[in-house]
Amino acid sequence: MSNAAHDPMMNLSLRKVDPELDAIFVKEAVRQRDHIELIASENYTYAAVREAQGSILTNKYAEGLPGKRYYAGCDYVDEAENLARSRALQLFVGSEHVNVQPHSGASANTATFTAAMSPGDPFVAMSLDQGGHLSHGASVNISGKWFKPTFYGVRAEDGLVDWDAVQRAVDEAKPKVVIAGASAYPRVLDFEKFAAIAHAAGAKLMVDMAHISGVVAAGLHPSPFPHADYVTTTTHKTLRGPRGGMIFARTDEAAAIDRAVFPGNQGGPLMHVIAAKAVAYKLALQPEFRAYMQRTLDNAKALAAALAARGFGVITGGTDIHLILCDVTPLGVTGKEATAALEAVGVTINKNSIPGETRSPMVTSGVRYGTPAATTRGMGLAEMEQIAQWSVEAIAAREDSAKLEQIRREVVKVAQRFPVPGNDAAELAARES
Ligand SMILES: *Cc1c(COP(=O)(O)O)cnc(C)c1O
Repeated sequence: MSNAAHDPMMNLSLRKVDPELDAIFVKEAVRQRDHIELIASENYTYAAVREAQGSILTNKYAEGLPGKRYYAGCDYVDEAENLARSRALQLFVGSEHVNVQPHSGASANTATFTAAMSPGDPFVAMSLDQGGHLSHGASVNISGKWFKPTFYGVRAEDGLVDWDAVQRAVDEAKPKVVIAGASAYPRVLDFEKFAAIAHAAGAKLMVDMAHISGVVAAGLHPSPFPHADYVTTTTHKTLRGPRGGMIFARTDEAAAIDRAVFPGNQGGPLMHVIAAKAVAYKLALQPEFRAYMQRTLDNAKALAAALAARGFGVITGGTDIHLILCDVTPLGVTGKEATAALEAVGVTINKNSIPGETRSPMVTSGVRYGTPAATTRGMGLAEMEQIAQWSVEAIAAREDSAKLEQIRREVVKVAQRFPVPGNDAAELAARES
């Protein structure tokens, strides 16, 4: 007897089982098709990654590590996780050990904190309002509640890392860990210099390359290996894999990191996501990925120049990576107002604090643009010029709904020329009606 005879629901498609949710998927697919996505942390992943992520590997419990599981039947998921591990080590030359199980970037950071420190221990990181991440000691996050952060930032005059502040924070805090890595820093981070400062003080260097791991993998940003003791990352930003995280460590820290992930912070790993990570790492090893990353950086440089030419205050004067930080006050608006104006025309960015910020994080004086997602859709230098032009026009027309609607129609037209991978236009049109 087939399983369908026991429970006819088991083999039905999502559309049949849950039309309510399917309708939500259609709306989101239309949104993705008709918007231009410039949130620096977002991307569109590969069809093959989504296939792995939606696979039967979701059915398997596999607590532990390959060859050392707490459950039977793990032979094949072991093979999948070993592929992910060996490809990750191959992708990041000089890395020694990797754990591919963290569910997200923040989970990878929490696990690393618990491996490297005890509650109450001091660490040094870039503050959130200067470009750091919530999981680097913000008071609302476990990193700030359970550990003791001292922050450094960027120089108000040029937006670059304030090395005097890094040294001062290390001298004052006597930290166990120094973190290098940011969410809104447009320039190359000097990991060698961070390592020298951390190691001279007897601290470990933790690099959080969540934003730039794809750029590092492509060899277009200096590598944190071999300078860092721990390297954490997301897998879904520039690396373009499934939503998730991973942690690299030196061989002598491998066991501590593995224990911190499981049983320290997580239960069963998401084997379908780990399989999808293996696919993404394989694809990131191909020449096509390096070319994609190069186009992403070329687009970011072009967009930065086009925005600067239209009066945006581009922080540090440009970018070395995939993201751009801008002061929008020269255009007579706050970050919140600029973001709302662009959202109204279908261009998605986020408001962001800038060096020397005077406004609250809910308002801000700046915005952040990023090119990974638009570049995945195939947009190039001409579209970057166009996006900068729409940006100033939308900001100028922010109270003129007719003009905003006119710009929005132009955006939709251009967006639809660049299909979202996995978004079948004909199928979508059929389901929309
Ligand atoms: C995005 C990001 C994270 C968090 O990743 P999640 O997967 O959202 O938890 C951590 N650190 C940095 C620097 C980031 O940019």
